[in-house]
Amino acid sequence: MQICPHCGWENFEGIIYCDRCGVALVNLPLATRVLTGGQGEQVRADVLGPDGVIILQVGQEETPIMVQIRQDLILGRVTQTGDLTTYINLTPFGADEAGVSRRHARLLRDGNAVYLMDLNSTNGTRVNGEALAAGVEKRLRDGDELLLGRLKVYIYFKQ
Ligand SMILES: [Zn+2]
Repeated sequence: MQICPHCGWENFEGIIYCDRCGVALVNLPLATRVLTGGQGEQVRADVLGPDGVIILQVGQEETPIMVQIRQDLILGRVTQTGDLTTYINLTPFGADEAGVSRRHARLLRDGNAVYLMDLNSTNGTRVNGEALAAGVEKRLRDGDELLLGRLKVYIYFKQ
């Protein structure tokens, strides 16, 4: 059995993504596809393909969280729960000290688009420095800088 470090689910050996929350249980190669525009400048993707993986680089942590978003994911400080809500537990990344709420923000996808929504958190959520109003979906792009309370998270789209 492989115990998922985020949701506590017991997965069979050899499984790459947690059956419950979709977090990668093994390290995946990190090379992301870079799209280039006509002038050769980098264009940050705002779409995520059906098999795409989200990479969350949290704080100073070198090992990122990689997750397939199969349903809504809640970013916060929860591990074991009785319900089927899926959580990304940020406690090991210093979420307590950074003022992250238990249910801080929701990560969701609609087709190929990925959104972040603040769940009326105590210390708020920012995307590229812009504060989000609670309950409003903000579309994310590859490379966006999220701030959950004072916890900095970079998000990348791996197609
Ligand atoms: Zn899990």
